[in-house]
Amino acid sequence: MSPVISSSALNAEITVAKFGGTSVADFVAMSRSAKIVINNPTTKLVLISACSGVTNILVELANGVADAEHRHTLITRLRAIHQSVLADLQQPEMIADQIDALLDQVSELAVKAAEHKSAELTDQLVANGELLSTYLFTQIMNELGADAVRYDIREVMRTDSRFGKASPEPEMIRQLTEEKLLPLLQTQIVVSQGFIGSDEQGRTTTLGRGGSDYSAALMAEAVDAGTLEIWTDVPGMYTTDPRIAPKATPIKEISFSEASEMANFGAKILHPSTLIPAVRRQIPVFVGSSRAPEQGGTWIRKSVTEAPLFRALALRSNQTLITLTSLNMFHAYGFLAEVFRILAEHKVSVDLISTSEVSVSLTMDQTDTGGGAPTLPPGAHAALSELCRVEIEQDLCLISLIGNRMSQTAGSVSTVFDTLDEYKLRMICYGASPHNLCFLVKTEHAMPIAQNLHRKIFE
Ligand code: ASP
Ligand code: MG
Repeated sequence: MSPVISSSALNAEITVAKFGGTSVADFVAMSRSAKIVINNPTTKLVLISACSGVTNILVELANGVADAEHRHTLITRLRAIHQSVLADLQQPEMIADQIDALLDQVSELAVKAAEHKSAELTDQLVANGELLSTYLFTQIMNELGADAVRYDIREVMRTDSRFGKASPEPEMIRQLTEEKLLPLLQTQIVVSQGFIGSDEQGRTTTLGRGGSDYSAALMAEAVDAGTLEIWTDVPGMYTTDPRIAPKATPIKEISFSEASEMANFGAKILHPSTLIPAVRRQIPVFVGSSRAPEQGGTWIRKSVTEAPLFRALALRSNQTLITLTSLNMFHAYGFLAEVFRILAEHKVSVDLISTSEVSVSLTMDQTDTGGGAPTLPPGAHAALSELCRVEIEQDLCLISLIGNRMSQTAGSVSTVFDTLDEYKLRMICYGASPHNLCFLVKTEHAMPIAQNLHRKIFE
């Protein structure tokens, strides 16, 4: 891990901006986003996602579509998305061949995946979404009069070889960036890909679904950016997702600790790992809507002026709860150590834990290219089954309250649980962090609970 350095070492002259899939969905969205970049002279590095919907199609192809006709339909859809942007360019011929070549490559890889899918092939395939969108975005920037250049982030975004959810190597990324990318930033606006990277052998990897935010934060760290901007389709963070509670209100400023809890425990607005590099270098992060930049957004920083007891409520679906019961380990030691050794060996990352004398319940983290509720890898399941009884429950939802001093404030718990009389809580986590109180409920109860709580606490 890189040392935390003081914010005075940050370069106020460099802003890194990231635009998500909806912000680069089509020509209009891309043009809007390009103008946001151009209007801020400090924005030197732009990372973008694939056009909205593209990664989903690529993931479907990577999972192996045996039916040639369906494969064709999917590829036609991909072509249409990119062709429609090309059609609105002044000089489509500047990039038309490159776009065609990438789409042809997608077709070939899709056939391979239908024969034999693999994690490595999946990453190679899904990476094309970002490789395509960056051609289009760079061209739009240039047609708007900017001096922009497309850059292949795989030159600098070094990761390990865990396809589907690769871990970045910040030291290497920094070194490569200083060598290869920083000189470019002196003279041009660099447009590059979120989400993708490459391992030591140069093979394409991805950081997991939604990983572009994380890419942008890693790059902000590597260039010591003064600001990281995350442009999405909502004007920042709200007390909860307005689709859950229409009366949710925007949050103008939130601390790194609160925002990390929020990203980890539900709010889809930021990829959970995004803030790690930003916190490491204490880079202020702005989250805003590319559709309505004038509305402002949320600033995430080290210190904030207000630290309310309750800041926000987040909801995260598709939870998998694993309960491990060791019947003959009563009063014994080493059970948890063994459990976590097995989980670590199989790279299973755990979110929440609750324990009793003979059992431990835990929820699994879920951010790889897959989707749906996470499952225990077969190897881990087998090894755990030798040690104890393994029960797996799905169809659960995690509700988290994020705030400050929650574990030190009298009455904070009763405020929350008073509203929940009618519902069964499957698991509660409280006390480890002053910023978070969360519990698991049946998926069908999640909405009414979240709405009740929001009404009681925030409205
Ligand atoms: N395009 C990738 C995805 O849809 C990465 C991202 O958008 O952040 O997951
Ligand atoms: Mg995204």
